[in-house]
Amino acid sequence: MSGSYDNTHRAFLQALLARPTLTFADAQPLIALIQTQQDPTRPVLEGDITRADFDHYIHAVNNALSPFDMEVRSTAHQSARGVEVFALVNTASDALTQMATVHTADEIAFVKRVLDCMFETNNTRRAEIMAVSGQQALNLAKAPDARRQSGAVADDTQSQAANASLTMAQAEKVLRLLVAESWFEQSQHGFYTLSPRALMELRGWLLDTYNDRDAESDNSDQGHLHEKIKVCAACREIVTQGQRCPDPTLRCPARLHSHCVGKMWRAQGGREVCPSCSREWKNPLHVGEKAARRGRQSGSAGGRGRPGPAESEVANESE
Ligand SMILES: [Zn+2]
Ligand SMILES: [Zn+2]
Repeated sequence: MSGSYDNTHRAFLQALLARPTLTFADAQPLIALIQTQQDPTRPVLEGDITRADFDHYIHAVNNALSPFDMEVRSTAHQSARGVEVFALVNTASDALTQMATVHTADEIAFVKRVLDCMFETNNTRRAEIMAVSGQQALNLAKAPDARRQSGAVADDTQSQAANASLTMAQAEKVLRLLVAESWFEQSQHGFYTLSPRALMELRGWLLDTYNDRDAESDNSDQGHLHEKIKVCAACREIVTQGQRCPDPTLRCPARLHSHCVGKMWRAQGGREVCPSCSREWKNPLHVGEKAARRGRQSGSAGGRGRPGPAESEVANESE
């Protein structure tokens, strides 16, 4: 195949634009169809499309897109056994900025409240849920009364500027759209999480927004910074679903995606120990909605999951 950009690449780009994400398995029949249409006398079967063919299309599309600050990127899906997911990513602005072009300021403020709930309220040292139940998300339709805004959330000027509440129906519609546009995913148990696409687009924003805040505030943990957003010790991508070090004090920062565990042990010459504190990685704790389900039934209130052995010495960080 030549490196030039032709009609098959244009058709592939159009297919990419029409869908928020794509896997190699999705792309095979798509590229086969595009190539068959290009030359009907030589039908191409989906099995004929190799990974190298697919990579060639991604490369050609990325070359064509680079002047427009767009790029096809890939990441491993945390809950689908690490399947590689491709998405068209805007390299010049973050996802919240892009959402602002199709959503009202009040809707964006609602999305921000859902994200704060995901990464602050439902992400404490004791329970790193990093997900929001359907009911909890709807409860956020109502904008917090300015008088009741305190401490952790009050320093965000953006969320204060647009303070009007959404109706339940409006909030439901926004959530539905976010799932349809592959910003959010909804689990079997009704929890909303960030999709692979959103994690790709929001990586920098999430680290800036939720990790800096702790550094500014008075940290209860004697100089040891508790970072809200943690990356996988194996692949360095953000972990919102996976495993955490079985450290009973809940202080070890090591996290691993479930699909990265095998890779980690191979990298350590077969030693199945925490890459950070060297503790045996036996019965690891959960990151993700499992951290809520394992807890008492107050889990939907958030941050009250799994009563850890060190519960008494762990301050409630969600306040
Ligand atoms: Zn990983
Ligand atoms: Zn550890």
